Amino acid sequence: MEAQNKLYDFIIIGCGPTGSTAATYLSKMGYSVLVFEKSKFPRAHEGESLLPFCYSMFQDLGVWEEMKTKFVRKPGARFSSHDGSNSSTWCFKSVIFDESYLSFNVFRPQFDLMLMNNARKNGVTVLEETKVEAVKLDRPDRIVEVDTVDKMGMKAHWEGKFLIDATGQDTFLAKRIGSKNAYKELDRIAFLAHWKGGNFKHGLDVGLINIVYLEKGKRGWFALQPVGKDLMSIALIVERKYLKEQKKIFTEQGVADWQKEFYMKEIWECEVTKEVLMGGMMDHDLMVISDYSYFSDKWYGDNFALLGDAYKFLDPIFSTGVYLGMKSAQMFAEAMHVKLTSDQETGDKKLAETFETISGGYNLVEQFIDIFYDPNSFNLAEVSSKSESVYHGYEAAFAMVHLLLAGDFFTNYKKYHDFLAMLKDPVQYGRWKNFIVSVPHFDEATCGTNPGEVFGAIVEEFKMDMPIS
Ligand SMILES: Cc1cc2nc3c(=O)[nH]c(=O)nc-3n(C[C@H](O)[C@H](O)[C@H](O)COP(=O)(O)OP(=O)(O)OC[C@H]3O[C@@H](n4cnc5c(N)ncnc54)[C@H](O)[C@@H]3O)c2cc1C
Repeated sequence: MEAQNKLYDFIIIGCGPTGSTAATYLSKMGYSVLVFEKSKFPRAHEGESLLPFCYSMFQDLGVWEEMKTKFVRKPGARFSSHDGSNSSTWCFKSVIFDESYLSFNVFRPQFDLMLMNNARKNGVTVLEETKVEAVKLDRPDRIVEVDTVDKMGMKAHWEGKFLIDATGQDTFLAKRIGSKNAYKELDRIAFLAHWKGGNFKHGLDVGLINIVYLEKGKRGWFALQPVGKDLMSIALIVERKYLKEQKKIFTEQGVADWQKEFYMKEIWECEVTKEVLMGGMMDHDLMVISDYSYFSDKWYGDNFALLGDAYKFLDPIFSTGVYLGMKSAQMFAEAMHVKLTSDQETGDKKLAETFETISGGYNLVEQFIDIFYDPNSFNLAEVSSKSESVYHGYEAAFAMVHLLLAGDFFTNYKKYHDFLAMLKDPVQYGRWKNFIVSVPHFDEATCGTNPGEVFGAIVEEFKMDMPIS
């Protein structure tokens, strides 16, 4: 095994959005950063709908202008009923009054590659096709040891002062320290494919993500997203219990690829997906993501931290994963910088506050998700109306859900916590809903964006030219 002499300030495992964001911020602050990534980028990944609150990070990282030329713009989110007869559209422009309201639907292979290249441009060393096999965190001097193997089978040994685990759903450290726990109530499975030749309707024409509820009893939803000029991403998320029943039916019928048959059946049974995908074709094999919703109950120590999906993965209903990972990475980098440049008391206080804020933000999203799945509460497809009645005020109540959907999780999580707790009470929820239906929705059909604005900036049409596993 080859031993490396350099002692890095930070070693990061994984170069998804969390790893590359942490790496770039730290490198810009003057630290030496080494990132190991087991894949060769671009590589396929789910998680394509981004939140407006990512904006300031894209600016800090220096990728905002590039993003505007590469990705589909997303002005808001729509929630639709299964038959398409009810929907509500949440336009970020209603509550965010600068250019950051217009977010993105990204094609992840290109997005992750862009962030990795940008990290390199900012001085980070990234070793692709290099898998971390083992780490040692318990040396008395707190130096971290890392063992890797590359695609040629060459093994190497590395040392650093601090380790960040950003390995996503691989949850490298959580598995090794035995700290990974499943959220049993969020036991779901996701199916995802990209489609070509579909019809950009139901809000996809203006860049909206459309979340379509499945029929009662299935406890699931579709996410329809435009990610290229002729490319849409269609994800189906269902409760495992329902899937098991379906598996039994398909396998008894002797269907070979039952998962694909199931995905197709749900698509053709839903009016919205049927209209959007009629005449379209799946562009690659179905991706199935079954390791779903978990958290690590230990996620930091003196010389390590778990960030992004490596720490916690929450059901993706509100498209929060990339923002949660990137924002935690940014906050963590800033706190580490304070720790490494101030006296011990100041540094420890800043780190403790940061960890509390990160977990507060994640807990808030968890609470929001809980309400989404509560059959007695929130049905976001049904809170809108085309009512022309006059808007009497109550801006704050109206803005709350908009701002949550846009990603305002960290700075105000205590305030939103109380608001969401209020919505769990059926009487209060009824009042809030009555109020929402009386609000004339902001330019609902287009979210104030014309289709040319959404797709016009895309200079190239992405091709799925990499294997999808
Ligand atoms: C069905 C579904 C839909 C989703 N939709 C959305 C959405 O619309 N919007 C959104 O924001 N989020 C969404 N998410 C969540 C989003 O995909 C994740 O939260 C996000 O990708 C997390 O980023 P990350 O950098 O933490 O992890 P990842 O992006 O998974 O990156 C981890 C990286 O670590 C590397 N790695 C792992 N192990 C090792 C190792 N041992 N050595 C070296 N490298 C290693 C991997 O190759 C990978 O590149 C969705 C998730 C699912 C399942």
